[in-house]
Amino acid sequence: MSSLLHLNRVCKSYPSGRERLEVLIDLDLELEARRMLAVTGASGSGKSTLLHLIGGMEAPERGQIVFDGRDLGRLSRDELARFRNQELGFIFQFHHLLPEFTAQENVMMPLLLRRQSASQASTRAASMLAQVGLAERAHHRPGELSGGEQQRVAVARALVGRPRLLLADEPTGNLDAGTSRSIHQLLFRLHAENNLTSILVTHDEQLASQCEIQRRLEGGRLH
Ligand code: ADP
Ligand code: MG
Repeated sequence: MSSLLHLNRVCKSYPSGRERLEVLIDLDLELEARRMLAVTGASGSGKSTLLHLIGGMEAPERGQIVFDGRDLGRLSRDELARFRNQELGFIFQFHHLLPEFTAQENVMMPLLLRRQSASQASTRAASMLAQVGLAERAHHRPGELSGGEQQRVAVARALVGRPRLLLADEPTGNLDAGTSRSIHQLLFRLHAENNLTSILVTHDEQLASQCEIQRRLEGGRLH
């Protein structure tokens, strides 16, 4: 099987005083469809930077990021926006839900951005909330939900548009151990049920060991 995601000698640095901080240095990665990759690494090693590059939110200075045969660096702004909206689900450490909207309205957002009708988006969002175990909480606002429930809503929002690639950046870094475990189980189940290709950045060695592929980011490369 050929790889769905291919990174070829990707470099990224940031200005740091008069010098530049080299974060990713000739980083290579091949990931086949439907695999789950865990990325660990010290704080500041570049894990979030790596996900932002793969998600097309930042551009590498050198090297290529190729998703399903398409070099992200060669896409127009519109094509890149479409890639992010249609192919990609992103889960962050903090849920970033909009506080004034209900869980269901938050989950509908990516579909409304795709210009789906409100009734279609609402039906699909309700079904996605049921998949994450929150059918009963659909009309609550984020402030009325627990931390674990908020993160479940964020998972539903990431997957409502049926992306092929899921990027999760320390999705349970802010939750207690028991709640984290239940979110991990949810991610494993949704990964399998939705034919996802997933990259999970985590500090949690136990979680990483449950993923079929594990790599450590160190010295700007994956080991
Ligand atoms: P991790 O997620 O592994 O903790 P990051 O990818 O967030 O690491 O950051 C890697 C390094 O790059 C850190 O030293 C961080 O301070 C630096 N960095 C990240 N983003 C920026 C930025 N926009 N400008 C300058 N430095 C940055
Ligand atoms: Mg980070």
